[in-house]
Amino acid sequence: MADDEVDLFVIGAGSGGVRAARIAASHGARVMAAEEFRVGGTCVIRGCVPKKLLVYASRFADEFEDAAGFGWTVGEPKFDWPTLIANKDREITRLEAAYTATLERWKVELVKSRAVLEDAHTVRLLSSGARVKAQTILIATGAWPHYGPKIPGLEHVISSNEALHLPALPERIVIQGGGYIALEFASIFNGLGSEVTLVYRGENILRGFDDDVREHVRNELRARGINVLCGHTVTAIEKNGEEFVAHLSDQTAIAADKVMFAIGRRPNLMGLGLEHLGVRIHEHGGIEVDQYSRTSVPSIYAVGDVTNRVNLTPVAIREGHAFADTVFGGKPTPVDHGNVPTAVFTEPEVGVIGLTETQARAQLAKLDVYKTSFRPMKATLSGRQTRTFMKLLVDGLTDRVVGCHIVGPDAGELIQVIGVAVRMGATKADFDATMAVHPTAAEELVTMREKAASYGREAAE
Ligand SMILES: Cc1cc2nc3c(=O)[nH]c(=O)nc-3n(C[C@H](O)[C@H](O)[C@H](O)COP(=O)(O)OP(=O)(O)OC[C@H]3O[C@@H](n4cnc5c(N)ncnc54)[C@H](O)[C@@H]3O)c2cc1C
Repeated sequence: MADDEVDLFVIGAGSGGVRAARIAASHGARVMAAEEFRVGGTCVIRGCVPKKLLVYASRFADEFEDAAGFGWTVGEPKFDWPTLIANKDREITRLEAAYTATLERWKVELVKSRAVLEDAHTVRLLSSGARVKAQTILIATGAWPHYGPKIPGLEHVISSNEALHLPALPERIVIQGGGYIALEFASIFNGLGSEVTLVYRGENILRGFDDDVREHVRNELRARGINVLCGHTVTAIEKNGEEFVAHLSDQTAIAADKVMFAIGRRPNLMGLGLEHLGVRIHEHGGIEVDQYSRTSVPSIYAVGDVTNRVNLTPVAIREGHAFADTVFGGKPTPVDHGNVPTAVFTEPEVGVIGLTETQARAQLAKLDVYKTSFRPMKATLSGRQTRTFMKLLVDGLTDRVVGCHIVGPDAGELIQVIGVAVRMGATKADFDATMAVHPTAAEELVTMREKAASYGREAAE
């Protein structure tokens, strides 16, 4: 087959790749993209979107229960997993078609194939063996679940990929991991009625989050009946007929219908041919790039999870867009990875932006901490035992809000809006001057007046 020539070849049509391809094409570039699985990538096909649909499903159980306190009589609710999965799959197929249509509209040539690098300007398509010459190559191949050390019975373990396609709802599931994916699936299965054990090797879940948030979420998950075991690991999985037995590091064992690991994801670099091209890999395992997402080989760029910077969809999209503007739009655009708001869709939900208290104490000469924990208004009639937590971290010298941490209903929605204020450099005085919206939970964010603590830098040392 004859060599083809394009301005940009994108490897991977996920969040970052699709955006980069579309924007580069809008700048007039001739673009080709290769996708080995399904257009849309992790987020659309087996990440954010299908997960959030399952989160919605899992939250109806509370609504049915809570309705009684408000005078409703609800018949015995019944849940059907195959219906949920079929409906979810239909939506994913619709979204995949929408992403594909976008690429077609912008005349991006899409090839359904695995692609590898042959040299700094050549990509090889494994489906046909064809070679494509490109002025610029963008690697946007994402990441893949990591299963940890090879332990006996590891072949029985599922990841989030399979959890989204199980033929039946497991009555009992053991999930190993303490990050957001492990916790979200623990909440999903718990809400849908499974018996859930969460096994995490560290001292507390949600490493990297504010300590108060970690503590609050752990207590809430436990109160909802999730068996949270910190300081443990799964050492072996034994298949016993239809069930699996997870053996733990303290010599105990837990029987379950499924064992899932969500202990991290690794950048998708294997077999791409990067080594012989001299594309440098960062010590954190991702492709090393500069602020414009350029690798150590000038014609090769990389965006998204494969660079292991901030592994979230909006970040991959922003990086892809900035890359296209930089290289094809004549507008060099660095990406600012600071102050990225983020959510964890557990029950209750988490929304955070900015520094944790530990980070703020280490970085600031003076820190003021405001926090509150209260029973949400809805719980007063429903009788549900849950508490909302909010915390503001304020630079004691400039009065700027440098961190906001929320655990409670709609925390993800709240933090998106608070994120604008924090990025703009809002001060605690700005928060205080903003009129409250009453009665809401969010009004607490503008009515916290009492400092919970105040630290000088010496206190952190
Ligand atoms: C369960 C789960 C839940 C998540 N929830 C959230 C969330 O709520 N919010 C959030 O912001 N982020 C979430 N994420 C993270 C988010 O999905 C990723 O950060 C995002 O998809 C990264 O985009 P990307 O473009 O780097 O890679 P991806 O979207 O993974 O796209 C990479 C694409 O490249 C393809 N590919 C790989 N190698 C090749 C090759 N050699 N040739 C051709 N194609 C190739 C893959 O098939 C894939 O389609 C979640 C992830 C998971 C797993």
